[in-house]
Amino acid sequence: MINQLDFGGFDPAFVGTSLDFSSVDALRLFNEFRLGTAPASFSELHPTERFAALSTESVLWHELRHFHDSLLAPYSAYVFRLRIDMLVNLLGLFTYILDREISPKANCIPVPLIRWWHMNDADRATWLAMLPPRTDGAAWVPVNVPVFEERDVKLTSRVEKRLLKSFDELLRLVSAKRDRIRDLTFNPRLVSALSSFQPWQVFELSGLAVQIQDLWSVYGADDVRFFVNRIVQTPESPYSAPLLLAQQICNAAGVEFSWALAGICSAWSLFGSYEHDHWDACPSVRFSRLWHLLSTEGVDLSRSVPDLFEHWSACLKLSTVADAIAETRKIYIGIPEVLVKHFEAAGLTRDKSSDLLLRVTTGVAQSSELMAKIISEDIGTYAVPYSYLESLDRYVNANVRYVLQSTGVIFGPSRDELQTSGKVITWEVEQAGKRVVLLYAEPLKLSEKQFVTADDALELSDLFALTEFVFSDLGRERGDVQRAGRVAFGESHLLPVEVY
Ligand SMILES: [Zn+2]
Repeated sequence: MINQLDFGGFDPAFVGTSLDFSSVDALRLFNEFRLGTAPASFSELHPTERFAALSTESVLWHELRHFHDSLLAPYSAYVFRLRIDMLVNLLGLFTYILDREISPKANCIPVPLIRWWHMNDADRATWLAMLPPRTDGAAWVPVNVPVFEERDVKLTSRVEKRLLKSFDELLRLVSAKRDRIRDLTFNPRLVSALSSFQPWQVFELSGLAVQIQDLWSVYGADDVRFFVNRIVQTPESPYSAPLLLAQQICNAAGVEFSWALAGICSAWSLFGSYEHDHWDACPSVRFSRLWHLLSTEGVDLSRSVPDLFEHWSACLKLSTVADAIAETRKIYIGIPEVLVKHFEAAGLTRDKSSDLLLRVTTGVAQSSELMAKIISEDIGTYAVPYSYLESLDRYVNANVRYVLQSTGVIFGPSRDELQTSGKVITWEVEQAGKRVVLLYAEPLKLSEKQFVTADDALELSDLFALTEFVFSDLGRERGDVQRAGRVAFGESHLLPVEVY
C-alpha cells in the first residue's frame, strides 16, 4: 500500500484524504482496523507483510493530518488556488476543442494536448500517417490546435472570440500556471549535489509524526522501532529523508528523540506567511533555519508550544504562525469570490461545473475558517501528535476516497442502499454478473464539522482527472485519469488518441 505523493502531501484534486489499495486483503485489513477487529499483533508475520500491515493500520491518520495541515498552511492554499485557476482555464479549452467552426471535420483529439501543441506540422503529419486505419474507413482528422512558437505573448484571461490565436493564448496561460505551481512546490535553492530538501518533506514529517504516534499507542515500542528502521533502511522511500530529519533535529537540539518535538518543529515550519517573508516562508527554508537555531540554543521543552513558536519567529525574524493562518484564511476565502467575478466577467452562464467549483471552494474556505479558529485558541493540542489524535472530534471531518488499483471490491447492498449509508460509488464494472467497485468515497465519522460532501469532492476530482487526461503529460497512467477521459469522450464525435 502506498501513501499518496503529491504537492506537499495534499492532492488538491481531492478535498479530503485519498487511499490507494493494491489488494482486497489490504482493504479488508483496513476495514478491520476501522471496526476494531484487527489482530492485536503482527510481530509473527514476514517483515514485508508486517510492514504492510502496520502501514495499513496507520495510513489514515497520516493522510488526515495532510488534509488538516492543508487547511491551515499558506503554501497549500496557494497551490490549491493555482490548481483551481488552472482548472477553470482548462475547462475553457474544451469550448475550443468542441467548437465545430474551428474544427469542422475533426474526428479525433490527440492527447495530451501539451505534446501535440509542441509538435510542428511535419511531425504531426508523420504521426497521423502512422495511425492504424479507422474502423469507419474515413481519414483521421484531428482537432485544429495551434502550433506552439517561441515568442512573448502578453497573457490575460479575458475571453476573446474563439480563434486559433486565442486558443494558443489559453494554452500558454495554462502552462504558465503550471510553472507557477512548480515554483512553489520546488525550491532550487535547497538542492545540492547529493540531496534535495523540498517543502513536501516537511509535510511528510508532519504526517509521519502523527502516524508513528498512532502506531506507538496501538502497537507499542517494538513495532514502532521495526516500522521506523524499515523506512530508514529503504533510501528510495519518500519517508526516509523526513524521518532522518526528525532524528537529526532532535540531536541538534540536544534532546532525546521525540515525536512530539518533530511534530512541533514541522508545524512551526509549515505555517509561514509569504506576504511577510516572501520565499523565506517556504516550509523547507523555515525548517532549515529552525534547525540552525536549535543547534545553537537547544530547546526548552518545559515551555508551552505557543511560547516556543513566538520565540522561534522572533529569533529568526520570520512570520508568526498567527500571520500565516490569517493569510491562509484570506486566500481560501478569496477563491470563490474571484470565481464569481470571473464567471460574470466572462459572461458565462452558470452550469454544472461552475456551480460545483463554487460549492467546493466555499466549503474549503469554511473548513479553513473553522480550523483557523480552533488553532488560534489552542495551537499546542494540534502541534503535538498525541493530543492531536486525541482531539479529532474538534477538527473538520474529511471525506476518504478509496482507489482500488488492479483490484476491486464487491459490496452486498445495492448502490442506492450504499448511498444512504454515505458511500458514493463513481466507478464500477461488471465481472461475471457481479458489480465490482473500483473507486468510491465516504465521509469519515470523526466529527460533525464537514463542509464539502463526498459527492462533490469526487465530482471535482473527476473534473481534475478529465483536464489532466486532455492536457497533461504527467500521471497519464493513473486509472482515474484514463477513466475520466474515456467516459467524457465516450459519446463524443472525437476519439482520443494518445501522442507519444
Ligand atoms: Zn504523506
